[in-house]
Amino acid sequence: MKHVLYGRCVRCGKTYEAVPDLTTCECGGILEITYDYDYIKTRLTKETLAGRSDRTMWRYRELLPVEETTELPPLRVGGSPLYEEPRLAKHLGLKKLWVKDDGQNPTASLKDRASAMAVAKAREAGARVIACSSTGNAASSLAGNAAAAGLSTYIFVPSRAPKGKVAQLMTFGATVISVQGNYEETFALSKAAIDRWGWYNRNAAINPYLSEGKKTVSLEIMEQLRWEVPDYIAISVGDGCTIAGLWKGLKDFYAIGLIDWLPRLISVQAEGCCPLNRAIAEDRPWYPMEENTLADSIAVGVPRNADKALMAIRESNGLVVNVSDEEIMAAQKLLGMTCGVFGEPAGVAGTAGVRKLCEQGVLGGQDTVVSVVTGNGLKDVANAIRACGEPISIPSDMELLIKAFQEKGIAAD
Ligand SMILES: *Cc1c(COP(=O)(O)O)cnc(C)c1O
Repeated sequence: MKHVLYGRCVRCGKTYEAVPDLTTCECGGILEITYDYDYIKTRLTKETLAGRSDRTMWRYRELLPVEETTELPPLRVGGSPLYEEPRLAKHLGLKKLWVKDDGQNPTASLKDRASAMAVAKAREAGARVIACSSTGNAASSLAGNAAAAGLSTYIFVPSRAPKGKVAQLMTFGATVISVQGNYEETFALSKAAIDRWGWYNRNAAINPYLSEGKKTVSLEIMEQLRWEVPDYIAISVGDGCTIAGLWKGLKDFYAIGLIDWLPRLISVQAEGCCPLNRAIAEDRPWYPMEENTLADSIAVGVPRNADKALMAIRESNGLVVNVSDEEIMAAQKLLGMTCGVFGEPAGVAGTAGVRKLCEQGVLGGQDTVVSVVTGNGLKDVANAIRACGEPISIPSDMELLIKAFQEKGIAAD
C-alpha cells in the first residue's frame, strides 16, 4: 500500500509494517494506521470527489488501508443520509442540527463500515474464516458482510443480545456462541478461541484497520456539509472505536487540507455504564464499571479502545455527557416523531446527549451540531415499544373507534 506508512502504537510509538493481519503492539497498546498525506493530497481533492459516482464508503479509497488490487466486499456500505432537521433544532434551541442516519446501512448499523473493512483485509490475508465478539451489531454486520463475500464466521455475543440481532446472525449463517455472561466474559472467550484456531480477528480494538472503516462516517458528513465544519459532532460510546474512528476521519481530512478546522466531539454514554466519560470528567485513568443500561450496544464496562477514545475526546476539546435509560427512550420517541428516524437505544443516545446539553444550557442558539444515529430501531423492537407505548387495540367496530378517540382526546379531523 503506497499510501500507508505503518501502524503506530498510540501508547509507545513503536511502528509496524501494515500487513493485513496486523493486531496490537507488543506493549499491549493499540495501533493507529498512519498515511503518507503528501502522496494522498495530490490524489484526493474536492474536485476528484465531486466527479465520483460511487456513493459507498469506498469512494474515499485513497484514505483507506486497502491494496489497489483488493476485491472490495459486495454489500453497499456507507452513503447514509445526513438530514438537516430545522424543527428539531428549533425544539432544542440550536442554530442548526443534522441527523446522520447510519441505521440505513445493509445490516442496519454503523458497524457495517468496520465489517466491510474486515472482510477486505481478511481477503488480503487469504483468510476463509473471521471471528469477533460483540454486543450485537459488530456481530450481525460481520456475519452479513462475510456471508456476501463467501467467508464463514464465528461470532461470540453476550446472552443479553436483543433478538433482532441474534436473528440476523442466524439468518446470515454464522456459527453463534451465546455466552452466558457479560461482554467482558464474551470478549475473553472469543480471544481464547481466536488464539487457538487462528481465525481472522475482527475485534475492533485489536484490529487497527477497523476504525479506518468507521472513519468514513465523518468523511461523509464533511462532504455532505460541503466542507462546512459544524461546531460539534455527537455520538454514543461503548468500546470507543467509533468515536476514535470518527475523529481519525476528521484529522485525515484536515491533514490533506479538505477542511480547515476541527469540530468538538460530544461523547455520550449511559449513566449506568460510563467508564470513559467518567475518566474525562474526573481527569484520571478509566476503571471498569457495571453494564447497567438498556442500550445494549454501549453497555461496555471494560472498554477495549479506551486509549484512542480518550485521546479523541481530549484532542477535540470535547464534551462528555451521560444519559439515563429514560432520557434514551425519550430521545427515541423524539427522533421518530420529529425526524422520521427510528434508532435503537444506543443509536439515539447521541441525540439524547445533545438534548440534555441543550437543557443544561451548555449548547444553545449559536451552535451547529451533527448527531449520528448509529443503529436502527428494528434491531430491538421490545425496547422501542417500551419507549413509545402500545397502539389502540379494538375490534373492527366504528362505534368503538369513536369511543376510543374520545377517551384519548383524539380529534381526528
Ligand atoms: C457499537 C455501537 C456503538 C458504540 O461504538 P463503540 O465502538 O463500541 O464505542 C454505538 N451505537 C451502536 C448502535 C453500536 O452498535
